[in-house]
Amino acid sequence: MKKLVVGNWKLNLDHLEAIQHLQKITYSLPEKIYDEIDVVIAPSHTSLRSVQTVIDTDNLYIQTCAQDVSQYTTGAYTGEVSSLQLSKLNIDWCILGHSERRNYFSETNEIVNNKLKSVIKNDIKAIVCIGESEHDRLSEKHLETCLSQVREIFKGIRKDSISEIAIAYEPVWAIGTGQVAKPEDVDEILGAVRVYIKENSFNIENFRFLYGGSVNTENAKDLINTHNVDGFLVGGSSLDSEEYVNIIKLSL
Ligand code: PEP
Repeated sequence: MKKLVVGNWKLNLDHLEAIQHLQKITYSLPEKIYDEIDVVIAPSHTSLRSVQTVIDTDNLYIQTCAQDVSQYTTGAYTGEVSSLQLSKLNIDWCILGHSERRNYFSETNEIVNNKLKSVIKNDIKAIVCIGESEHDRLSEKHLETCLSQVREIFKGIRKDSISEIAIAYEPVWAIGTGQVAKPEDVDEILGAVRVYIKENSFNIENFRFLYGGSVNTENAKDLINTHNVDGFLVGGSSLDSEEYVNIIKLSL
């Protein structure tokens, strides 16, 4: 299975800084790495167009990802950006259900489910985030929380409509905190999600399973060697080009 590494730049970098950052990353990556790893960057919406233009003009192999999308396609939804609009920009991927969207913008599994339907319809690949809170982990409800998120987010999704999906296990307590999940805990969750996807007759070949939460060059190797981990969703460390490139190299 080809690995997948996604850099989530969050609310950082204007469009000019985003281009510079993209160039620093791609100049440091040997071309053959793209045979083994799908390398993806997720800048802010305002940078997507500029970054995509540089990628097309310079024939770069790196892929683009939006950090979020509207659940609606068109109409009176001020401030929203649709999957259709992203697809016109040739954006490859979209992150859905990030815990920051859930916590700060009241995003529910139902909304994520609508967003998933919308990106699939517009041929954008989804990175679906799941993960438990610290409270759920301490009360040993982590597995049930993650599985119920998957159940709800994939409700009513037509199995033959999926081309490529990544499910990113991102424990909320590990995001941006420097606290990283233990490889065996990541394996437990992603293993169970993988079984759920298979048992529900989705084509497992269309899925990759990622870990996210304080990934850096110190912990990437142990995590990638974990049986069920096919790659990473990287936040803070993706803003440092050298660190991000090294995480990609460690993900081989
Ligand atoms: C993220 O935002 O998806 C993330 C995993 O952040 P960080 O790597 O900073 O924990």
